[in-house]
Amino acid sequence: MRDTLYHRALLDAGIIAPGGSGSGITSWRGPGLGVARRMVDTFVEQVGRFAPVARTEHPFLNRRDAYERVFPQYANIYRLPATRRSQPDWVLRADNLHLNVEWLRRHRHPGPVVATGGLLRHLRGSGSPLFRERYIWPAVQLNHVLPAGEGPAALEGYRQVLERTFEAFGLPVLTVETDALSSYGDVCHLTVSCLRDGRPTVLATTYLMAAPYRRALGVTGDLVDVGFTGKVLALASMHHLDRGGLGLPSALAPVQVGVLAPPGAPGVDDWARGLTGLRTRRVVLADDAPFRRHRAERALLRAGTPLTYGVRPDGRWRLGRRAPAGHGPTAPFPDAARVRAELAGYDRRQLEATRRRLRHGIEGAGLIQGVCDGCAAARRLPVFGRIVPHRPARCVHCAAPGRDHLVSEQGRFY
Ligand SMILES: [Zn+2]
Repeated sequence: MRDTLYHRALLDAGIIAPGGSGSGITSWRGPGLGVARRMVDTFVEQVGRFAPVARTEHPFLNRRDAYERVFPQYANIYRLPATRRSQPDWVLRADNLHLNVEWLRRHRHPGPVVATGGLLRHLRGSGSPLFRERYIWPAVQLNHVLPAGEGPAALEGYRQVLERTFEAFGLPVLTVETDALSSYGDVCHLTVSCLRDGRPTVLATTYLMAAPYRRALGVTGDLVDVGFTGKVLALASMHHLDRGGLGLPSALAPVQVGVLAPPGAPGVDDWARGLTGLRTRRVVLADDAPFRRHRAERALLRAGTPLTYGVRPDGRWRLGRRAPAGHGPTAPFPDAARVRAELAGYDRRQLEATRRRLRHGIEGAGLIQGVCDGCAAARRLPVFGRIVPHRPARCVHCAAPGRDHLVSEQGRFY
């Protein structure tokens, strides 16, 4: 990952802390913890519309025997041997799947359950902040046990949940069903977006877990596993940058509305307090010196703030927008609905800009092609997976009826 601009922007925004580079462990600062929490809350809220969702966290030390019953083959984990014979061997939390399933059983909860605690895995080569790390945080993992046969419908529901969640972060996605991970899942959906340069990248994985896992976990029905990480925030930061720095989508921004006003500007405090449900920050300027106003506005922009209202000493108001950046006069004291509409417009513009990159980088680059089942099975084309929901298309190889596929000469991407 040579694009380090997003990392710089996250540092400047106070989302993450400097240092630790190369260790594969990112330290988060207060505002960043809030951004990560809002990322998880947005997802859980979307899941909640579809199923009664529970949340939990698991201990960092997990029994090695319980872990290896489910994941016997992984060498990329950290083990902690027992110091006394009466003690078990431990694994430093490397997965939440078995812990979530155990939680559902213990609480007689049908699921889904969501855990967000970080996962620790060996990192080969050099990582990149939030994209590839040793300590993966936040690691959002949802598990849902369902009666046998109900898994495919649930997978379709989670496809929509993920698409809506990522769109709220200004990240349009495609869902691709792949057979490349069949040892893990009978069905595997990859939620694919793109890097700033248009290259595809995987944002989330959804599995209908394969039989060996279900057996090891004692699940007789279907088992869904959905996972994504802080990479989502890195990708959002990569796309939503401007000259002011990080421009976070309003669902994630620590401050949604900045207000710059001279001291004692009549009515401003009451107005800002009346914007219920919006995250506002009022900055009182010592005087009307332009440099002071610019400096205060730059600080708000750097922190990811989408919208800034400026109140002038003569009572005129100005509105600073982003994506694209611009200033203009605005009517004083807009109500909460008007401010929300401004934020929605900003989110829409960000999403559209990213959608153009996705179209250009994936569809425009010829990565979506019609392929028939026969040619896909015979690997006559470098098929990565089928687009979901399925879209009928003629096979580019033999002209038989087929479906749209994501093809990638580069092979698998992450
Ligand atoms: Zn064909």
